Amino acid sequence: MTDATPVRDYIRTIPDFPHAGIMFRDVTTLFADPQGLRRCIDELVAPYRDADIDMIAGIEARGFVIGGAMADRLGAGFLPIRKAGKLPGRTISEDYALEYGQATVEVHDDAIAPGARVLLVDDLLATGGTAAAGLKLLSRLGAQVMGCAFVVDLPELGGRRILEDLGHPVHILCE
Ligand code: IMP
Repeated sequence: MTDATPVRDYIRTIPDFPHAGIMFRDVTTLFADPQGLRRCIDELVAPYRDADIDMIAGIEARGFVIGGAMADRLGAGFLPIRKAGKLPGRTISEDYALEYGQATVEVHDDAIAPGARVLLVDDLLATGGTAAAGLKLLSRLGAQVMGCAFVVDLPELGGRRILEDLGHPVHILCE
């Protein structure tokens, strides 16, 4: 790997995880490489340098890694969007559908000041269900959502279109 290696080349694919037939895009190899991680964060924050972002909202768990680094770069705070039952204070929650069953994401109900300029981030966008649930939480908190940023898009699953149809600009590093 060199300074010119694109972000996608640091990501490996693990077949049949977590189920047979799924090609899992594993960003731990990107996070493990200092040049790869720096390049990833450089490219993720690039469109937002002058956007006066107040908070980065990162989705558990890989969204915490990139979200924390992005917040530091942009001089913003960090807001964790967590799976159900993990946050200690009073929360609001949103349910969303998975391929089999459903899941829930939560935030503290006092996590941001109303009108705060917030960016939603996660490692990967597939159907968009997780990100859409996160966006609902942010809008219930009174956030001004400035956009959504992801490292990887799986375009055949249509998540990007769903988020754009909700009116949010989407920034993604690779497909
Ligand atoms: P969605 O809700 O269908 O868009 O799925 C996106 C969520 O599932 C994100 O929080 C991702 O971290 C996770 N996810 C789904 N597939 C993968 C993958 O191949 N690699 C890493 N994360 C994945």
